[in-house]
Amino acid sequence: MARRKKIYEGKAKILYEGPEPGTIVQYFKDDATAFNAEKKDVIDGKGVLNNRLSEFFMNGLTQIGVPTHFIRRLNMREQLVRSCEIIPLEVIVRNYAAGSMSKRLGIAEGTQLPRPIVEYCYKDDALGDPLVTEEHIAAFGWASQQDMDDILSLALRVNDFMSGVMLAVGIRLVDFKIEIGRVYEGDFQRLIVADEISPDSCRLWDIETGQKLDKDVFRRDLGNLADAYSEVARRLGVLPKSNVTKPTLIN
Ligand code: C5P
Repeated sequence: MARRKKIYEGKAKILYEGPEPGTIVQYFKDDATAFNAEKKDVIDGKGVLNNRLSEFFMNGLTQIGVPTHFIRRLNMREQLVRSCEIIPLEVIVRNYAAGSMSKRLGIAEGTQLPRPIVEYCYKDDALGDPLVTEEHIAAFGWASQQDMDDILSLALRVNDFMSGVMLAVGIRLVDFKIEIGRVYEGDFQRLIVADEISPDSCRLWDIETGQKLDKDVFRRDLGNLADAYSEVARRLGVLPKSNVTKPTLIN
């Protein structure tokens, strides 16, 4: 059996060369990390859940005309995606104050923001992904002004979609992070939503109880992470209604 070529291994995913040119196989690991990998653990079933949830969100975005890298899910842990050049920014959209914004600005977690606020962090683990402004992004050539207009519009469309989907199942979308990729089509380039959208990269709170259903459960030792992600998946109909505690997935 031929060994496939590993392109990159990150904290939660491995990328392999895909079967056709321009494609990549994205493998979801069970590894959980926080605080720039200072805290680590292996959470049974997390990769399976995130593969399913990211598929669900990316498919939904495609249906409303938001371009993404997602092609199709291959199996429990892998999905085929379009290869793209990742813009070195973490694009964060916040609807309620939480996490680093609450710390930085002294705003109580859970405070509703006057409007969605978009932030950019420079993707660099060694530097701890520092917050940057559009001035840095333009001056260092990470993205053009046209790219920034497109990124803002993609980020806000993803926010509207994700907020609505979550609201429908009693979950508040507090904030999330996306990554954006560049693809070339003939003489044109286009920006698409890449990487993953999952409870690893969102803050999701139960609307009634305020219970956290995202990676903060791991970051802050609030309980079993796979149970929290299973609950999100169950509410979205990605998991069967029975068996809410273990990530036993339908195919
Ligand atoms: O930590 P902070 O409050 O800045 O995170 C904002 C949002 O971005 C959270 O939903 C968090 O899960 C996500 N995030 C991420 N990857 C990072 C930093 C933040 O997915 N490296």
